[in-house]
Amino acid sequence: MPSIKLHSPIPLLAPRDWQSELSQIIRSVDELLEFTGNKPGSLDELDTIDSDFPLRVPRPYASRIQRGDPYDPLLRQVLPIALENLSVPGYVSDPLDEANSNTMPGVIHKYHGRVLLILAGSCAINCRYCFRRSFPYQANQNSSAEWDLALDYIRQHNDISEVILSGGEPLIHSDDRLRQLVSSIADIAHVKRLRVHTRLPIVIPQRVTSGMLDWLTCSRLQTIVVLHTNHAAEIDDEVFAALHRIKSCGVTLLNQSVLLKGVNDDLETLKQLSERLFEAGAMPYYLHLLDKIEGAAHFDVATPRAQQLVGQLCATLPGYLVPKLVRECAGEPAKTPILALPDNYFHSTKEGL
Ligand SMILES: *Cc1c(COP(=O)(O)O)cnc(C)c1O
Ligand code: SF4
Repeated sequence: MPSIKLHSPIPLLAPRDWQSELSQIIRSVDELLEFTGNKPGSLDELDTIDSDFPLRVPRPYASRIQRGDPYDPLLRQVLPIALENLSVPGYVSDPLDEANSNTMPGVIHKYHGRVLLILAGSCAINCRYCFRRSFPYQANQNSSAEWDLALDYIRQHNDISEVILSGGEPLIHSDDRLRQLVSSIADIAHVKRLRVHTRLPIVIPQRVTSGMLDWLTCSRLQTIVVLHTNHAAEIDDEVFAALHRIKSCGVTLLNQSVLLKGVNDDLETLKQLSERLFEAGAMPYYLHLLDKIEGAAHFDVATPRAQQLVGQLCATLPGYLVPKLVRECAGEPAKTPILALPDNYFHSTKEGL
């Protein structure tokens, strides 16, 4: 018998697949603090809490958090803190009034030509500022029969040229399930484009499987993937490689961010984010002002400050690396653009910001 060479413990080093990453996400504050080298109880200013919107953090994302820094911008996005319990006037549970545009379970048809399908209630990660943190997902857990109704709805509306798979997190479904759905959508002649709104390739890059790239690209539909990334540190080497794989299949790769106090509300951070996204093959698309969801007021950046920041970005980066600053207003037919203001606007009006 030939001798068998024993290799060093490769199985331990092999990356876990995305389903096992999902099953092993961090679910408690103490575990997250320990994982990130922070001592429970040592975070006076960031007094942590238990919340009805539970902590969920995948390990690949948590591993990018700077150890021992309670103010790390990636940690801030996921750590439930006491400020969430403050009741702030103007911050409500359904700021976008989606309850009224929820055409039927799982379908939001607010904008001309585009329909958004809520494919999944849950996410791999729970972002503390999430505008859907109080969304009635339970009422949007579609059975197959309800999916058929959603597909019927698209069939009956000739003006729908783009179907957006959203959530929650659409990529939480298996590739087989998504392949079936995409194939049914592609059978509807007036649909031209398929768009996926996802954060999963960022928080668990192993989700970008060959199966996923297959259903994304095998139909006649043009495909767009819109990522959600708020900070350059979210794009480590694994994410970088995953995004390149998506891009190299001919998918249009875009990113949306939320402007968040203490996370990305300074010029250098926004600049690095745009640059890093572009290196990874993604174009900055939207920079959203925070939706006024209850529990998230401490993330708010005042509109004039946001306008100034984007004005500064315009003065620093090529135009294609500057995301559009927008706000979502209930009842409006599109995201509302917010004007970027040049720096000298603030000097001449002496509005120190
Ligand atoms: C944001 C959004 C869209 C997509 O808008 P675009 O400007 O095309 O990116 C579609 N439907 C709903 C309900 C949305 O909130
Ligand atoms: S990934 Fe998006 S939908 Fe999911 S919790 Fe974060 S902001 Fe909300």
